[in-house]
Amino acid sequence: MVAALLKIRKGDEIIIPAHTYCASAIPFARNGAKIIWADINPKTRTIDLNDVKKKISKKTKAIVIVHLYGYAVDVNQFKKINREIKIVEDCAQSFGAEINNSKAGTIGDFGCFSFHAQKNITTLGEGGAIFVKNDKLSKKVPGLRHNGHCNYGINRKYYWKPAMGDLDMDLDNRWPYKFTLSEIQCAAGHLMLDKLDKLNDIRIKRAKKFINKFEGEVFSFNGDFKKRRHVYHLLSAHVKPTAKINNHKIIELMYKKFGIKCAVQYYPLYRYPLFKKMGVSNQHCPNTDAFFDNMISFPFHVWMSEKNFNYLINSLDKVVRMLNDKEIIYIRKS
Ligand SMILES: *Cc1c(COP(=O)(O)O)cnc(C)c1O
Repeated sequence: MVAALLKIRKGDEIIIPAHTYCASAIPFARNGAKIIWADINPKTRTIDLNDVKKKISKKTKAIVIVHLYGYAVDVNQFKKINREIKIVEDCAQSFGAEINNSKAGTIGDFGCFSFHAQKNITTLGEGGAIFVKNDKLSKKVPGLRHNGHCNYGINRKYYWKPAMGDLDMDLDNRWPYKFTLSEIQCAAGHLMLDKLDKLNDIRIKRAKKFINKFEGEVFSFNGDFKKRRHVYHLLSAHVKPTAKINNHKIIELMYKKFGIKCAVQYYPLYRYPLFKKMGVSNQHCPNTDAFFDNMISFPFHVWMSEKNFNYLINSLDKVVRMLNDKEIIYIRKS
């Protein structure tokens, strides 16, 4: 949707962090944009401002800022780079996240939200929302998401001619989509909206408990919580290069001893065969590689029972002890 609203043409450059889920990039690539991969800041694990500054060119049409893991990026810093370049916020993992009292998704030109089953709230499995800052442009969304139709409220001499609008959204002759939600999904979304803050509070409380226990010599978490509401879509850690153990050992033992499946994500997008075949893999980002190669993502969802969450904590505690010859070396340095 945003790729259409931006009127992406072949050769337009879009800067996107390589450390994200593939859906941050595919819609732009599909529309012919040249993807320029941005590195992450190793502390925040989100798009790095200085790297973006280096990669801006005359052809840069937009920067995609992914508020990954539920951590709100300081979007205003990116807006200052060049007012002509549009800012797209990917908020699929950050519904309800805040930075300096602004909601993620409302600071840039566009905000994209996902209500897929795994996100912080869902509309019965699939769904999404989009925020468009420009008023005139936002009027193109209803038609663009529904086969070009508009309602009869549109100002025309004969409201009924042609039926349901003229299908023309003035988007460089682009075909419209069918991106509509069903009524029951919208009703569910309405109910979930009221619960969002409460559900996010549970995530935050649990994440803080976990981080307070494990941050230290083995694990580091993405920090800087001043002026931020981090809504912990995921709970992930970097296994420090100075630690005696690595992520694969921990993941293996967590599964073999306790039946807990941790994950490693996100695979740097330029390493995927699809991106390679499509010719968008010719740059590498050192911080992205270094983080991915020794990170661990723990099972984390608001519907996990308190009992299971404590089982996760106790199991990780045991695994780290086993790997460190029973020494507890992850005590927080205060
Ligand atoms: C889930 C996700 C998406 C895609 O959302 P859909 O609703 O499946 O289209 C995009 N970006 C990120 C970062 C995501 O986690």
